Amino acid sequence: MTVTSVVVVGGGIAGVSTVAELRKNGYAGELTLVSADAVPYDRPPLSKAYLAGEKPLDAIALQRPDWYADQQISLIGDAVAVSVRPDAGEVELADGRVLPADRIVLATGGRAVRPTFGQLGRDAPVHVLRDVADADRLRTQLVPGARLLIVGGGLIGAEVASTARGLGAEVVLVDPLDPPLAAAVGTEVARWLHGLHAEHGGEALTTTVETLLEARAGVAVQLKGEPDSRRFDVVLLAVGLVSETGLAEAAGLETSRGILVDSGQVTSHPSVLAVGDCARLRDHPRAEHWEAAQRDGARAAATILGSAPPPATAPWWWSDRYGLHVEGVGEMRSPDAEHQTVVRGVVGQPPFSVFTLRGERVIGAVAVDDPNAVRAARRMIDRGVDVRASDLADPATDLRKLLRGTR
Ligand SMILES: Cc1cc2nc3c(=O)[nH]c(=O)nc-3n(C[C@H](O)[C@H](O)[C@H](O)COP(=O)(O)OP(=O)(O)OC[C@H]3O[C@@H](n4cnc5c(N)ncnc54)[C@H](O)[C@@H]3O)c2cc1C
Repeated sequence: MTVTSVVVVGGGIAGVSTVAELRKNGYAGELTLVSADAVPYDRPPLSKAYLAGEKPLDAIALQRPDWYADQQISLIGDAVAVSVRPDAGEVELADGRVLPADRIVLATGGRAVRPTFGQLGRDAPVHVLRDVADADRLRTQLVPGARLLIVGGGLIGAEVASTARGLGAEVVLVDPLDPPLAAAVGTEVARWLHGLHAEHGGEALTTTVETLLEARAGVAVQLKGEPDSRRFDVVLLAVGLVSETGLAEAAGLETSRGILVDSGQVTSHPSVLAVGDCARLRDHPRAEHWEAAQRDGARAAATILGSAPPPATAPWWWSDRYGLHVEGVGEMRSPDAEHQTVVRGVVGQPPFSVFTLRGERVIGAVAVDDPNAVRAARRMIDRGVDVRASDLADPATDLRKLLRGTR
């Protein structure tokens, strides 16, 4: 059947990438993007430049507002889809409008997890960070001297700690893991990165929150293992993401920690696709990174157009903290009988990079202030080239040459 109408629900990077790739690759039918925001914007700056007040909202738009009309994409902003009916080929919006859709693409992202640690009123200064409204609320409270507790020392928690220190807030960050992020960057780099909080005047504690109680001015927090509660002006819960699967579940699609998709982003219903943080490739963990969401959009567009999907590539992400740029690709593993860790440079003295090798095959890399190392590692992983650990470790070796392999 020729596809003549596509409705994409969700205006994050995954949804915008889907519509952009469809048009770029020749789709000429009706194309509608339903966005809960007036104009789709990018999320990574919400913990960085936007939170710091260095970039306004229009500077973080994913596309210029007039781009959608130029591309003949009907952007329905400030709109929420309340039902998708794949068999009828319909998407219903909260205002009652019903959009015809030969293909429906769910790009609904996720919600920040919000654990309950006690009775809190609606106006209690306890926040999560997923959208612009969250960032705006948090920013008004990050004044010099404000006491901020961050629960969760992952990528977003660490970025907010860095931004908040830059704004003059007093930061305490708690995480039960010592160090957090070891699974993503390896223990040595994770320990060094985590140590940056203290180096920049924050306090990083290995513990968990037992209770959060609204206090007269702020929040009283009981941390596990401490005799007395501490008082904070503001609390950020940065403990993870839950996929937004409500529409899919109501439509009877298969979900399990995400809307389950195949390698072409197709869900358990052949005319519904899912992309980005709301989706999960069967038998794989969710990526939860910006570029993965963008690539999902490109794959979904290829599926709808019946064209070859873009080539697979190792998952890549970046993060910024305390003026340092961190990138990672592939899979980092602790050294064992099968895996070895190779350090290029010195951990803690940027620029440096750390690689995981299985045998002589690079399977993952992390770099601080050395994006070229990660770019080269990605090509090594994608092409499956073998390298000598000693060559990789030598900062004098041109990594591009290693791409030709040792064999
Ligand atoms: C603060 C922050 C910092 C980050 N920093 C980085 C980083 O440095 N590097 C990195 O690689 N990744 C980073 N990420 C992760 C990255 O931004 C996400 O992986 C990416 O945004 C996922 O895109 P998405 O389009 O799948 O989902 P989202 O960006 O969540 O977009 C989904 C959209 O769908 C909308 N929606 C949901 N339901 C409906 C509905 N029923 N009707 C209409 N609209 C709906 C939502 O409101 C939302 O606008 C960060 C994320 C956050 C929150």
